[in-house]
Amino acid sequence: MSMPGTLSGGDPGQILMARLWCRDSVAPVTNNTSTTLSAAAARAVGVTKIYGEGSTQVVALDDVSVELDRSRFTAIMGPSGSGKSTLMHCLAGLDSVTAGQVFIGDTDLTSLDDKALTALRRDRVGFVFQSFNLVPTLTALENIRLPLDLAGRQSDKEWVDTVIDTIGLRDRLNHRPTELSGGQQQRVACARAMISRPEVIFADEPTGNLDSRSSAEVLGFLRRSVDETGQTIVIVTHDPGAASYADRALFLADGRIVESLDDPTSDRVLDLMKKLDLSQAG
Ligand code: ADP
Repeated sequence: MSMPGTLSGGDPGQILMARLWCRDSVAPVTNNTSTTLSAAAARAVGVTKIYGEGSTQVVALDDVSVELDRSRFTAIMGPSGSGKSTLMHCLAGLDSVTAGQVFIGDTDLTSLDDKALTALRRDRVGFVFQSFNLVPTLTALENIRLPLDLAGRQSDKEWVDTVIDTIGLRDRLNHRPTELSGGQQQRVACARAMISRPEVIFADEPTGNLDSRSSAEVLGFLRRSVDETGQTIVIVTHDPGAASYADRALFLADGRIVESLDDPTSDRVLDLMKKLDLSQAG
C-alpha cells in the first residue's frame, strides 16, 4: 500500500497525521509504564503559551498547572478562545510552550529534540480530530491498522480484535469511509488512535461534526475504552452532554483553569458554566 503517498494531499488534517506517524529513522520510544508509573498520564507545570509579539501578542495559556490522571476520561471546557485547543496541543507535544514544562508519564516534552518528540507523538500519544481524517481509499480495517503499518510494527491480533469489538463495527471493516456514517467514521478514527496502545488519547471536539445519536455512539465508545481497557482520554468539548461521559471536567477561561468538576453531569456542567459566566462556551 502506498499509504504515505495518500496522506500527502493538501488537507491540513491529513498532513498533520502524516507528521504524527511519519515513518522515519526515529527509534521506537519504549512505553515506560511498566518501569516508572507517574500517577498522571499527562501533566502541565506552570505552562504559559504566548502567540505573536508586541501589540499582536496573545497569552493563550497563563501559568497553567494540571495533572490528568491515568485511565480516566477528562473533558476540557471553556468559551471560544479560552485556550482549550492550545492546552491540548501543548500537552500532546503538537505545540511548544513559551514557559513551563509538559510531561507525558515521566517524560518532560520540553527537554526533547524534534526527533524524540516525533517518536513520542507516534508511539505514546493518540489523536482524534473533529473531521475524522480517515484515508478515503482505505477500508475501515486498513485505516485502523494504519499507524501500525506506517511504523512497520507487528500487530497483536488479540489487541486488534479487542479494539474492533470495543468500537462494535466488525461487520463494517471492509467498508470505505464514504460507506460509513459520520459516527461510524469517528469510531474508526478512535480505534485508529487506540491501536498503538498510546498512553493518552487526545480528542479535539470529537463529536463536533456529529448528530446527537452519533455523538452518543462515539462518546460511549470512548467511555468503554477507559472502563474496559484502562485507556486515558482527554477531550476538548463545548457540549455539557459530552462532558457528562467524563470522570472530570476542567474549565478554562482566559488561558487559566478556573474550575474542576468530578463526575460531571450535564446539569452540573450547565450550572457551573452559568455560575462562571461561561454560557457562551464554544
Ligand atoms: P479555544 O480552543 O478555547 O477556542 P485556542 O486555544 O484555540 O482557544 O486559542 C486561545 C487563544 O490563542 C485565542 O485568543 C486564539 O486566537 C489564540 N491563538 C490560538 N492559536 C494561535 C496561533 N497559531 N497564532 C496566534 N494566536 C493563536
